[in-house]
Formats: sequence, C-alpha cells, structure tokens
Amino acid sequence: MDSELGTIAGRVRAVFDEIHRAAVRAGRAPDSVRLLAASKTVTVERLREAVDAGIRHLGENRVQEALPKIETLDREGVVWHFIGTLQRRKVKSVVGRFETIHSVDSLALAEEIDRQAKAAGLKQRVLLEVNLGGESSKGGFAPAAVAAALPALNQLEQLDIRGLMAIPPPMPTAEDARPYFRQLRELAQALTAQGCRNINMQELSMGMSHDYAVAIEEGATYVRVGTAIFGARSEPYHDHT
Ligand SMILES: *Cc1c(COP(=O)(O)O)cnc(C)c1O
Repeated sequence: MDSELGTIAGRVRAVFDEIHRAAVRAGRAPDSVRLLAASKTVTVERLREAVDAGIRHLGENRVQEALPKIETLDREGVVWHFIGTLQRRKVKSVVGRFETIHSVDSLALAEEIDRQAKAAGLKQRVLLEVNLGGESSKGGFAPAAVAAALPALNQLEQLDIRGLMAIPPPMPTAEDARPYFRQLRELAQALTAQGCRNINMQELSMGMSHDYAVAIEEGATYVRVGTAIFGARSEPYHDHT
C-alpha cells in the first residue's frame, strides 16, 4: 500500500476523487452526491481524522455505540445519520439526534418515529429502506409494498420522507449490482408520480465501498462507504448483537 492510501486522509481523498469521476461520467454535478462515512466500530479518534480530511456526514448502525460517539466527537458541522436496523423501543433515543434515519423498514417503525417526533416537538427526516433482493435476512419494504404504504406514510406529519435506501444482495462484481440501483431509482420515480403531498423522493441512499461508483452512475445522492475509508472491520458486524 502506498503512503497516500495508508492513511485515512489519503483514502478519503481517493474516495472523493472516485465520486467526482463517477459523477462526471454520468453527466451529474459532483456535489449532488454526498459521501457518508459508515463509521460502525470506528473509534472517535479515527473519526476525527476522517472529519479533518473533509468528511461531513457520518453514518452509525447501533444506537448504543452511536450516542457516546456523538457526545465525544468535538468537531463542528458533522451531520449524523442512522443507517442500521432500528428497533422500535430504541426510536425514542434516536429521534432528533440524527439528521436522517436511512433505515425505516416498516410502516410500524415509521409510526413510532412519528409518535416520538411529535412528543419531542420536531420533524424527523427519514428514508424508506427497500429490500430489493427479497432477502429474508434483511429488513425493508418489498418494492411493491412501498407504493401500498405510501398513503398511510403520507399521514405521518412529523416525518419528512426524503427518498429511498437499499442494500442490494451481495454480488460478485459492482457491475452486477447495477440493475438493483436502477430499480431503486425507477421505484423512486414511480412513487413520485403517485403524487403524495408530503413525500419527496429526491434522495437515493445506495452504494457501498465496492460498488459506489456504479451506484452514482445510477443516481445515488448518498453513498455509504466504510471499508474504503477506514479499512476492513476486524469482525463481522451484526446490528442486533
Ligand atoms: C457498514 C455499512 C455500509 C458500508 O459498508 P462498506 O462495505 O464497509 O463500505 C453501508 N451501509 C450500511 C447500512 C452499513 O451497515
């Protein structure tokens, strides 16, 4: 590994460069794509390095890991996102602490966020997670179920629904994930055409370390990148453990 890619700052620069190239290839404005550093298991010290290198958006998966990090990271202007499986009983500690919850995977969860946001007197920005591959191991709305849930979601006044998020099934190559990314974009377009007053589908949170360039070509507005910035995580990670 050369010295540039041996540091967090060097890898952050490399990812920003790759985002820029992918956006230009797709005829998109590079600043229409936000890099969200997926920071599960990463220490606050290393998060500071990433923020000092230009990272502004951080995405955490677990409430009990995230809250102390939010308290401790003494950097201005950091925007926190929640990207992991969210249990209903933890909604109360998440609402208002994260700018966007990317992983709203059921109507019941959306209703609980709405309730807790109302109690806290705020509006919570969220994305709807879609289970594109129909994998039983993953949460998320089935693609056909999102349209059906939309009228009920539209009634939840404390939710600011901004778009869709997906984690496609593992694929041998990034190119193999392209049809899933395209499917998410087309789903967002179809939902927009459904014309619900309070729902806006402009954000697409898709693409991780191995496939974010392809996701950008297909319209990603958030890419969630962990390994390519922080290196490999030492252990497999499960949201619920
Ligand atoms: C960990 C994680 C990522 C980033 O994965 P990498 O392959 O390390 O880039 C993105 N999205 C979610 C929801 C994650 O949990």
